[in-house]
Amino acid sequence: MKDTNASMNQEATPIRTVLAFIGVGSNIGNRLLFCQKAVAAFRANPVIKVRQISSLYETEPVDYLNQGSFYNAVIGIETSFSPERLLQYCQHIEQEMGKKIEIPKGPRTLDLDLLFYGERIMTCPELTLPHPEAVHRLFVLIPLAEIAPHWIHPQRACSIETLLQHFEPDRFKDVEKRFELGWETSEAQGMAS
Ligand code: ADP
Ligand code: MG
Repeated sequence: MKDTNASMNQEATPIRTVLAFIGVGSNIGNRLLFCQKAVAAFRANPVIKVRQISSLYETEPVDYLNQGSFYNAVIGIETSFSPERLLQYCQHIEQEMGKKIEIPKGPRTLDLDLLFYGERIMTCPELTLPHPEAVHRLFVLIPLAEIAPHWIHPQRACSIETLLQHFEPDRFKDVEKRFELGWETSEAQGMAS
């Protein structure tokens, strides 16, 4: 008789995972610690594998200028979460870090933006993919280019490296590498706030 279990196992659909990129930012309190805790929270979730982490950059605020500088990084993860569920998990981490936005685009302990979810394109107020501001923000593109220079933007049909070439050279000074990879470990504490 056919071993039904064995054949079912062989035919079981493998869990599909998607590569996603998340922008991490903090400009209140111990910025390094908030960014580290974000990475730790992604690593602690069994449905998420952290694959890539950029250096940590210190960046000048954009849009709302009357606030302190940010620490920014981009991380690449692999997950079987849906985009909505991944955003929900990002928002859960933000809440854990006490995120409260009193001014739109204003100061925050931790901001997690879902930049890309594979090649998915969607437009809803709660979740737009790719993140519509990503292509305008050097604090996203510079760290992203460090870990995924050849990633193709599904709407622009060009690579992150190419998108970066459209910026005036003097704008790059607003995004300064502050910590090399390794910043995400707790040993990095004490290096800065
Ligand atoms: P900011 O635009 O300054 O990052 P928030 O972090 O407060 O502002 O996010 C505002 C809203 O943006 C969230 O409620 C979320 O539902 C929505 N949103 C839409 N698309 C995305 C995305 N790709 N990543 C993260 N949030 C998104
Ligand atoms: Mg956000």
